[in-house]
Amino acid sequence: EPQGDRTGRFAPSPTGVLHLGNLRTALLAWLFARSAGSRFLLRMEDLDNSRVRPGVEAEQLEDLRLLGLDHDGPVVRQSERLGLYREVLRGLEAKGLVYPCYCTRREIRAEVAASVSAPHGLSGALLYPGTCRNLSRKERAEREAAGRRPALRVRAAGPDGLPKVVRFTDRLLGAVEGRVDDFIVRRGDGAFAYQLAVVVDDAAQGVREVVRGADLADSTPRQVLLHDLLGLPLPAYAHVPLVLGPDGERLAKRHGSVNLRDRLKLGESPRDVLGWMARSLGLAEPGGSPTPRDLLRRFDPAKLPKEPTVWRPESETG
Ligand code: GLU
Repeated sequence: EPQGDRTGRFAPSPTGVLHLGNLRTALLAWLFARSAGSRFLLRMEDLDNSRVRPGVEAEQLEDLRLLGLDHDGPVVRQSERLGLYREVLRGLEAKGLVYPCYCTRREIRAEVAASVSAPHGLSGALLYPGTCRNLSRKERAEREAAGRRPALRVRAAGPDGLPKVVRFTDRLLGAVEGRVDDFIVRRGDGAFAYQLAVVVDDAAQGVREVVRGADLADSTPRQVLLHDLLGLPLPAYAHVPLVLGPDGERLAKRHGSVNLRDRLKLGESPRDVLGWMARSLGLAEPGGSPTPRDLLRRFDPAKLPKEPTVWRPESETG
């Protein structure tokens, strides 16, 4: 087994078929890890019961296998690690670093709208104004009595309640900063939040480099802060460019034959699809049908495109 120090992972949510953009991200994560001689892990992020669809995990694993993206060790499922998240939350609780929040989304929106200094994140997302941060025991009891099931929020903001500015360095994006509010680590329905699970798992699995789509860079400041609060080693980050549809939106089913199965139905081979991905990343010449191992030799993170790739329906992958 490879023993490099850049252990990587691909961590899809088994909620839908992987499209070419997701698969290209998987290829990149694989290339980052394998080109460093490191381990590459697979993790299923299946915590959200309302979104997980049966059969999708098997399909995703089959797609990766067909493309030749091998991985080390068994596939890890977040749904089988609830005890670990519970334990971590107990630790945060013991340190007074989490608190119950009874607010509904609508209440938060209303409160932010009513306040002059409405806190907004960099991407315009609503930041939590700290409504439940300092509730008395009596106030909590009243809300419980009213039948509200609280979410748990981490005390991320400073003592003044203002969102904390968190910075990290990304291998592709450079210096990134974001404002972090008191965010949810366990939802009102008891489900552990992605933000918590991803941090706990990356650390527990020894992931040293997180390679994922650029759309997740907005989440990273929260995760960096959690790593810090939990005293866990911070992995390196590389947020890779997305594949967009011709309309400039994130790639999706409505854009046509954008997943592996669709491409195979059109008579292409997995190698053809890999060839398209490689060309879109500047890793292969036109017409070639490389294997993942061929791409390893050409892979240079510094030469990856900075811009998203626009998928054209007519741009055959074959
Ligand atoms: N499970 C997340 C997703 O499918 C990705 C998590 C990650 O790579 O950190 O979007």
